[in-house]
Amino acid sequence: MAEVKPATPELVATEASAAERRERLVEVYREASVCERCPLAVGRNTVVFGAGNADADLMFVGEAPGAEEDRQGVPFVGRAGQFLNELLGEIGMNRDDAFIANVLKCRPPGNRDPQPEEIDTCRPWLDQQVDLIQPRVIATLGNFATKLLTANPTGITRVHGTPQEHVIGGRSLYVFPLFHPAAGLRTPRVAEQLREDFARLPKLLARTQPEPPPGIAVAPEGEGEPDQLGLFGKR
Ligand code: URA
Repeated sequence: MAEVKPATPELVATEASAAERRERLVEVYREASVCERCPLAVGRNTVVFGAGNADADLMFVGEAPGAEEDRQGVPFVGRAGQFLNELLGEIGMNRDDAFIANVLKCRPPGNRDPQPEEIDTCRPWLDQQVDLIQPRVIATLGNFATKLLTANPTGITRVHGTPQEHVIGGRSLYVFPLFHPAAGLRTPRVAEQLREDFARLPKLLARTQPEPPPGIAVAPEGEGEPDQLGLFGKR
């Protein structure tokens, strides 16, 4: 009988398993939770790193924590968060089906807009989250997340509801721009639009990954075993 040889190291997939990626995400969370890279560290109560399923196909990226998020250390737990939960419920999903994060991990004083230097300083945390979670779709909530992740200054009113193909964190994925749920709370027409756009999410998640543009090397898809733990939720 032919001898079964162990696979050569070159042939063994180098892709980290979901458990390894989750473990690394917990390490990044620990590092971020004591971050003092920008002056927002002074006024915050908690670093709001993100929460949800660390192996989710869907990631939401909002703007920055508000007062309630800063108190609880969890993103989207205030009124906008309740609306986000409602929108997810309407398409048969819930927060455990996604990972939810923000452009800024700390609350700007008085909920003012994120400043360009704060966005730049905080960006590596978001990049690490995307690298480790490996989402197929990143739904950006509002202008700040949309402009950052599409690398395009076009406003949300013009781009919402249409998926865009991007390579982020070495992976080809869809960025799906959405209005911020807080805008939906202020304006019924925006709430209606959010509902229409959310209704497109299940089909988008089922689509095959976009082809990377020629010349861009993209990491292979991970093993994707279902996985969860503590802070980073259950599937
Ligand atoms: N708005 C955001 O953009 N993020 C939150 O976490 C809460 C409100």
